[in-house]
Amino acid sequence: MAGEFALIDRIRARVVRRDDVVLGIGDDAALLQPAAGEQLVVAMDTLNVDVHFPGDTAPADIGWKALAVNLSDLAAMGARPAWCTLSLSLPAPDAGWVDAFLDGFDALARPHAVALVGGDTTRGPLSVCVAVHGFVAPGRALRRDRAQVGDDVWVSGTLGDAAAALAQWTAGGARDAALRRRLDRPEPRLALGQALAAHAHAAIDVSDGLLADLGHVCRASGVGAQIDVDALPASEALRRAAADAGQRRVLQAAGGDDYELCFTAPQHARAAIDEIARASGTPAIRIGRIVAGDGVVATTGDGTAWTPARAGWDHFAG
Ligand code: ADP
Ligand code: MG
Repeated sequence: MAGEFALIDRIRARVVRRDDVVLGIGDDAALLQPAAGEQLVVAMDTLNVDVHFPGDTAPADIGWKALAVNLSDLAAMGARPAWCTLSLSLPAPDAGWVDAFLDGFDALARPHAVALVGGDTTRGPLSVCVAVHGFVAPGRALRRDRAQVGDDVWVSGTLGDAAAALAQWTAGGARDAALRRRLDRPEPRLALGQALAAHAHAAIDVSDGLLADLGHVCRASGVGAQIDVDALPASEALRRAAADAGQRRVLQAAGGDDYELCFTAPQHARAAIDEIARASGTPAIRIGRIVAGDGVVATTGDGTAWTPARAGWDHFAG
């Protein structure tokens, strides 16, 4: 498209340098030198406007989130990120938009030493697709299909903030900046995921909602899970926004876009995981356990069976 090469030059000027990038942006393809003896871990995620982020999202936040959701997938595998590629579809070749997008992208790429090594730039509806490549020691990746009966189920950080922000945005009412920041700038839990690789049995990042994502782990592992919805971690901002426990449970258990890690680990690893959580600066707490059978059974604190009612969303709008 018109101005495509000017945009690519702007992107190229800002990329993180790494020794294992033999040839980055500028040729027909990138040349990369993987470290000997490592397994390559690859993930890709697309963000479409009004589907994966609200239309009023700032370009810098789109840049951050496009990389963050991909790094979150590597975190859930216990991998160390190295390289990424970026496919940008833009309604117009807007250099200011691209610069702002790169501000957010770079704010996450630089501290994690992720080099952008190539991509594609086209004209079309606003859409951003990123692929990330990282490494893990052979056999050490955290997979979905390794949960074992008797494992504890853990979750990092807090749940429900991003879903609350989206509900507020959709309702058009009060908007809490702290919640919106969780929606726009999710923190990939890379340090936690890498440290867990030696202790956890299975892991997934929570992108579609805790119950759905833990359900994926159960299905892949051929096990069931029991969780206590009242044990799910909630931020202060969520407690303020959703004072009603019923609303809050729906947002925490079924809301999406948290990008926390849900993982299972043997009970003898409890002390080690508490220490890893402390050292990585990412809290992690136990919310239930893996049992024989299939599916996720949720109960409230008093042991009553609980399923998310869609009504929780409607009430939240008021
Ligand atoms: P080709 O026509 O050979 O596919 P392009 O003109 O699409 O080449 O891209 C030229 C170079 O710029 C390539 O190295 C490509 O990887 C890189 N590139 C294009 N768009 C992007 C982008 N959005 N982000 C990073 N690199 C890009
Ligand atoms: Mg191309």
